[in-house]
Amino acid sequence: MLYYKLKNYDSNGEKMKYPLFFEKIKSVYETAGIIENEPMCKHTTFQVGGNAEIFAKPRNIGAFMTVLQAAKECQMPLTVIGRGSNLLVSDNGIKGLVLCTCGISGIKVEGSRIIADAGATMAQLARAAYNSGLTGAEFAAGIPGTVGGGVFMNAGAYDGQLSDLVVQSVFMDEEGNSRRITNIEHRFAYRNSIFKHHPDWIIIQTEFVLKPANQQDIKDKMDDFAQRRRNKQPLNYPSAGSTFKRPQGHFAGKLIEDAGLKGARMGGAMVSEKHAGFVVNIGNATCQDVAGLIGHIQQTVKNQFNVELECEVRILGD
Ligand SMILES: Cc1cc2nc3c(=O)[nH]c(=O)nc-3n(C[C@H](O)[C@H](O)[C@H](O)COP(=O)(O)OP(=O)(O)OC[C@H]3O[C@@H](n4cnc5c(N)ncnc54)[C@H](O)[C@@H]3O)c2cc1C
Repeated sequence: MLYYKLKNYDSNGEKMKYPLFFEKIKSVYETAGIIENEPMCKHTTFQVGGNAEIFAKPRNIGAFMTVLQAAKECQMPLTVIGRGSNLLVSDNGIKGLVLCTCGISGIKVEGSRIIADAGATMAQLARAAYNSGLTGAEFAAGIPGTVGGGVFMNAGAYDGQLSDLVVQSVFMDEEGNSRRITNIEHRFAYRNSIFKHHPDWIIIQTEFVLKPANQQDIKDKMDDFAQRRRNKQPLNYPSAGSTFKRPQGHFAGKLIEDAGLKGARMGGAMVSEKHAGFVVNIGNATCQDVAGLIGHIQQTVKNQFNVELECEVRILGD
């Protein structure tokens, strides 16, 4: 396979679209986890989405940085994802490179500080905190994303959010420079951070600070949150979690339920019967199905209650 890449042709003898990119990454090709025309439904918890032209899941930070630099130097369209747990990807797929951080997942604890690579999971973060007798990250245990995706979104639950814990992040800017920002410079707000306004900035690592506490208390809190999730959320169906942000003074799920939309369907997409704040994939949903249902919910809630529901799920692709 590599032979064909270096010759600028694929195995069918067709001219490759990004020969320079493949030339630049040839030293890390074996660890770069490159797949061409990869279905994004395999990399999103919604299990929806067409093909990424090139998908890469580098296995170490060296390969990750080489692939990232190469994509920037070749001016390829670039999309960075974590575990795809907040994504709705277009049926037409994503042009250029989709770079997944999941292979860079180191995590280390130094006293009351935890330093996590962007691809470490939120569950790993919570587990590392628990193991070290540190409180503050219990809310993160049940959020199925990465630290990078969590910082980007300022993910949170049960009155906790990452902005409460972040000390600083290291990221790569649009020019390929490594930069560091402190908590306040993240401009965190409800499900918002500076990274949402700079889609070319790629989070590489984040440092958190927590507080010492009794380990049993930490475990009890994590168990309680996990139980609440199991009771309330439709975890048996693919989804991207809460579809909408919480509108000021309301709960999205309550508004949707009161609008009579529980169980409403469009193709393979359905408003969960268990929690109306979740649109779920009940079988082979397309992006068109999900986006159509989201639009229908927004319109109905607007008509009935004059409240605008803003999507929390990120829509990517063409
Ligand atoms: C069952 C379920 C329950 C959920 N519960 C919660 C919850 O309680 N609270 C909550 O906040 N969310 C929840 N979510 C949503 C989701 O898990 C979070 O938003 C999570 O933080 C997304 O992380 P991710 O790694 O999957 O990011 P992705 O979905 O892969 O990406 C999300 C966005 O972040 C960007 N991004 C990802 N990594 C980086 C990086 N390294 N640098 C720059 N940008 C990056 C992507 O480009 C994209 O725009 C839930 C989802 C599911 C499926």
